[in-house]
Amino acid sequence: MQTDILTLIEERGIALGDGGYLIELERRGYVDSGSKREKVGTGRGSGQFTPEVAIEHPDALRQLHLEFLRAGSQVLQALTFFGTREKLKRAGYDAETEVINQNAVRVAREAAAGEALVAGSISRTQLFEREGRGAAHFVRELLAEQTRLLTEAGVDFLILETFFHLEEMLIALECARASGLPLIATMSFRPRLDQSSDGHRAAECAREMAAAGARLVGANCEQEPKRMLAVLREMRAAVDVPLAAQPAAFRSTDETPCFTRLPQFPDEMETIQASREEFSEFGRVARAEGIGYIGGCCGCNAAYIRALASGIHDN
Ligand SMILES: [Zn+2]
Repeated sequence: MQTDILTLIEERGIALGDGGYLIELERRGYVDSGSKREKVGTGRGSGQFTPEVAIEHPDALRQLHLEFLRAGSQVLQALTFFGTREKLKRAGYDAETEVINQNAVRVAREAAAGEALVAGSISRTQLFEREGRGAAHFVRELLAEQTRLLTEAGVDFLILETFFHLEEMLIALECARASGLPLIATMSFRPRLDQSSDGHRAAECAREMAAAGARLVGANCEQEPKRMLAVLREMRAAVDVPLAAQPAAFRSTDETPCFTRLPQFPDEMETIQASREEFSEFGRVARAEGIGYIGGCCGCNAAYIRALASGIHDN
C-alpha cells in the first residue's frame, strides 16, 4: 500500500484494522491460554497468550492474516502482543525474543503483499500488575528493546495497546517516539470503566497520550462496542486528534465491565460472545462520530471485521 496510516485516515475519514489474533489462534489450537495451569485473568499471568505461534506455526498466523485481509482490513497487525523479553521468558521463549518479533512482522508483511499496511503491536509488560511502579525502569528497557526490534523489522507504524496503567503507557510512548513512526495509543479499562487501573479518567488518558506523541488515541479490548462507546465519547470531548477503537466481541456486565474478569474467561467465552451485527452497528456509529481507526480485539475473527466494513460503508 503506497500510503501511510495518517494519510489513509485523512483521505478516507476512517481506516479499518484487524484483530484479535491471540484468542482466535487459541481457539484454533495454536496459542496457550494458561487455562487449568494457573489462574487466568488476574493480570499477573506467567506464560499466557504469548505469540510464539509466529515461529512455531507461521502458516496458521499467515492464514489468519489472509482472512482479515480478505474481510477488508487495510492494516495487518504483526502478532507481537506480549512480545517483550520478560513476558516471553515466563513462557520459556526469551531466547527467541528477536526471532519471534522479526518473524511476526515478516509473516504479516508477506500476507499483506502490498495490499495493507503493517503495524507493530506493543502491549503492557504485565510488570506494573505483578510488581508495581518499582518496575518502571525495567519496563522502559523491555519496551525500548521491542520498539527497536519492530522498527528494524520494518513496520509502517506502531499500535500501543491493552495498557491498564496510564503510567506504563506513557513509558511505552516515550520509547516508541524514538522510532519516528506514527503511533496509535489505546488504553484498556479494567476493572472499572470510568478510570484506568491507576486511577485516571478516559479524558485524562486521552490528553496525556496525545501530549506524549500519539497521533490517534482511544481504547481497545475488555468491552463490547456499545459499552466502549462511553469511554470513546469522553475521549472525543477531551482531544482533537482522531480516535482509535478496537472493542472485544465479548459481552461484559454493569457489575464487571471487563470480560477478562468474568468467570467465563478463558474457557466459556462462547457463552458471552457478542454478535457480528453489534460490530456492523459499531462501524456505522464510528463513521458517523468521526472515529479514525477501528478494528477488532479478543473474540473477533474475519466475520467481525467484515461486519465493521459493512457498517462503515453503510452510511
Ligand atoms: Zn483483546
